[in-house]
Amino acid sequence: MPILQVEELKKIYGQGTNAVKALNGISLSVDKGEFVAIVGTSGSGKSTLLHLLGGLDRPTEGKVHVDGNDIYAMNDEKMTIFRRRSVGFVFQSYNLIPILNVYENIVLPIELDGARVDREHVDQVIGALGLSDKVHHLPANLSGGQQQRVAIARALATKPSIVLADEPTGNLDSKTSQEVMVLLKQMSERFRQTIVMITHNEEIALTADRIVRIEDGRIASHSSRAGRGAGT
Ligand code: ADP
Ligand code: ADP
Repeated sequence: MPILQVEELKKIYGQGTNAVKALNGISLSVDKGEFVAIVGTSGSGKSTLLHLLGGLDRPTEGKVHVDGNDIYAMNDEKMTIFRRRSVGFVFQSYNLIPILNVYENIVLPIELDGARVDREHVDQVIGALGLSDKVHHLPANLSGGQQQRVAIARALATKPSIVLADEPTGNLDSKTSQEVMVLLKQMSERFRQTIVMITHNEEIALTADRIVRIEDGRIASHSSRAGRGAGT
């Protein structure tokens, strides 16, 4: 069974003459451990889709199942718990706490949730992201690429069902962006971590297992490593 299943997702912002159709019927299925890039121009609906996958907003129509759970059947309280436990978010800005060291930043979401830190898993994630010698550093003493790696480690530390990344390379130069993409790919393989990321950068997206192109709130094309470039 796919870990993420999206059925006929629609989102309309506003009402009447001000209504904006942001998503126009998106259906998508993602298997555990897949690394999917969603590409499209500005205004095509990428952020709206990512927000709906992570339970940050509610759709006008359609369903999202994560790990078998119909997330929009949940009330707000259950949805908050779902977001905290089952989704790891990575944003363009790293959102690290400046007064906490790298390790403390990484385990913060686990501690805020009152859960036990799985030290072995956290150390494996830290090692896999090349941060082992940085655990005592403060974010300000790290490069942008290193800070984004900390944010990725923080997202993976809770062993979420899905990691959702919103333009994770948006603030990085092209070489560092490629490095971050390769690391995301490695994380998806090593930890069988499902990752869905959005980007407007076509070249960056090529590292993913699959590219889903969105235009005007619809899936315009779908390509996988095997048949890249082919429509649907
Ligand atoms: P992308 O991430 O691809 O740039 P978005 O999902 O942000 O696209 O936007 C899709 C469409 O929905 C755009 O027309 C945008 O202006 C509109 N939109 C996004 N968020 C809102 C909102 N909160 N209220 C009204 N319209 C919105
Ligand atoms: P030391 O310098 O004492 O050898 P390391 O940097 O090797 O410490 O870290 C030892 C372990 O402690 C690692 O598993 C690391 O993930 C963890 N660790 C690092 N910083 C903290 C912290 N602030 N709180 C809890 N554990 C930490």
